[in-house]
Amino acid sequence: MLIDSHCHLDRVDLKTHDQDFGHLMRACAESGVSRMLCVGIDLEAYPAMRRLVDPYPEVDVSVGTHPNEKGGQEPSVERLLELAADSRVVAIGETGLDYYRLEGDDASGQQARFRTHIAAARACGKPLIIHTREARADTIRLLREEDAAAVGGVLHCFTEDWETARAGLDLGFYVSFSGIITFKSAEALREVARQVPLDRLLIETDSPYLAPVPYRGKPNAPTYLKHVAECIAELRGLEVERLAEATADNYRRLFDR
Ligand SMILES: [Zn+2]
Ligand SMILES: [Zn+2]
Repeated sequence: MLIDSHCHLDRVDLKTHDQDFGHLMRACAESGVSRMLCVGIDLEAYPAMRRLVDPYPEVDVSVGTHPNEKGGQEPSVERLLELAADSRVVAIGETGLDYYRLEGDDASGQQARFRTHIAAARACGKPLIIHTREARADTIRLLREEDAAAVGGVLHCFTEDWETARAGLDLGFYVSFSGIITFKSAEALREVARQVPLDRLLIETDSPYLAPVPYRGKPNAPTYLKHVAECIAELRGLEVERLAEATADNYRRLFDR
């Protein structure tokens, strides 16, 4: 039994699933995925996403606005708390910093939005889902300044170095690896994945993005999670069942499920 700790089910391509979300959910179960966290990235799309997964109790949700999201309503602590009062909401995010696609001078805007999410998470006591890309020093600095350790969370789709993983672990965070771990060029990242303590490790697909080998470049879905699990199990010298069990236990502990 596998748990996908980060996916965007409302964006998954249903072409190979008879254009039917129920078909996709059955395919996930058949591939061994028993639980999924469907992550919010903008408040406009959130209500439709929430309705889509409502009939599927195996799907948890989170609420937040991605650092690169533009043009929609800017999240406030109050608005995030309103949405997070829903018992299906297990986390705040995804939030964080992404300087890779930084246009103009909006680093300060991203930082303000990130601080808002941390404040909301602390106010409702739910953990954070952190996205960080080319912004590791500022990400760790803001987590410290805003005392994110009070709620913890996960550094999702981790692609940074061991020093950054270590800093996150020291703040009580978990580290989650996506299909990137299977890419040929990801040897340094595999070395990080070998070192993360087994009781702090999560796995994800980040569907519909970042399909693992052998589906790299194709639309991703939680049905491919086993390829991420097999890769990490192999590089840690574990049976895949053991890795699945440990990451599922970690998910339940972190998200209180
Ligand atoms: Zn992300
Ligand atoms: Zn995401």
